[in-house]
Amino acid sequence: MDRRSFLNLLGKGLLASSTISLFPSLVWGKTSFDYALEGQNLIQGGSYEKAVKALKEAVRLDPESDWAFGLLGRAYRGLGRKAEAVDAFRQAVRLNPEDVYSRMMTEIMTQKPIPKLKKTKKPLTSLEKKALEEEAQMLSWLRSEDGLRYQVKRVVIDAGHGGFDSGAVGKAGLKEKDVTLDLAKRLHQRLQRSGGIKSFLTRTGDYYVPLSERTVIANQYHADLFISIHINANKNRDARGSETYFCSERASSKEAARVAALENAVLKYDTPFKKRRGYIDIEEILFQFERKLYWSESGKFARGFQKRFGQYLPLKSRGVHSANFYVLRKAKMPSILLETGFISNPRNESMLKQDVFRERIVDAIVRGLV
Ligand SMILES: [Zn+2]
Repeated sequence: MDRRSFLNLLGKGLLASSTISLFPSLVWGKTSFDYALEGQNLIQGGSYEKAVKALKEAVRLDPESDWAFGLLGRAYRGLGRKAEAVDAFRQAVRLNPEDVYSRMMTEIMTQKPIPKLKKTKKPLTSLEKKALEEEAQMLSWLRSEDGLRYQVKRVVIDAGHGGFDSGAVGKAGLKEKDVTLDLAKRLHQRLQRSGGIKSFLTRTGDYYVPLSERTVIANQYHADLFISIHINANKNRDARGSETYFCSERASSKEAARVAALENAVLKYDTPFKKRRGYIDIEEILFQFERKLYWSESGKFARGFQKRFGQYLPLKSRGVHSANFYVLRKAKMPSILLETGFISNPRNESMLKQDVFRERIVDAIVRGLV
């Protein structure tokens, strides 16, 4: 029995207390998400045979995961097993009609080969061009030093703050919540246009979303990256630069603890989750083991991201740090929080008002992701 059906049965009260002896082995049971993640890494390392094995397990545990089916298609394709690849891509499209990549692969792979006799070269269709571009991008990325690390396919973009929570406010009146929303929307549009990475937003207007709910959204979308966008502030008006944070129990520095306290300030308005007496939250217990994995992946990803992000952003790179950010805490995937400059710095504030500069930030984030 896998973890999900175990939890379902438990929820329905069908399990007798004696079954609890099963529990220790289940704590360590891998989920569909784990197998899919493993498969993704194996594909990137070129181990298609092993990837197929892991991904078959992923779709067995979660037959509704279009992400896992898409990956399975890629793994089969890597092995040259065309029929099985097309089958898996078709499943992915059936589960998620918006899965552009799987749709494209299905179309390309089922096309009849062009007869060799024809001398006139047919111009490439836009789909074929896109496939070639993606292939080239993938190859150059594989050869780069980040090649064997994480690859983002589905990202949830979180615009920091919103509604009554304006976040930090600049001297000239610019509000963090407005800039983060605009950046999140621009990033979302950019990713939609370029394909490759699917994106979702936690908020699309000026309203308040509790910190804990933002990651719930990311978990529901089965994202493989959660990215929360913020603008920093400091009493020292000269403070400047960009930083990437990831979640950890203890802050990596005093400054990181200060930033986390700033971003967690709104927490006092969240309604606390009341525990029922005698109620054991098994999901929570399981998650305590899982999150260590997510946080260490987040740290690895954050370092690669900030390197590329900092390189393209016309701001000083302040590096990667970690602290206990509530907005990241419950993410069941690698998650990062960006501080894209300081709204408290008057020069930076006026830059942040400009469309051109906002586009530069979006550019830099996209480069960080790919
Ligand atoms: Zn913020």
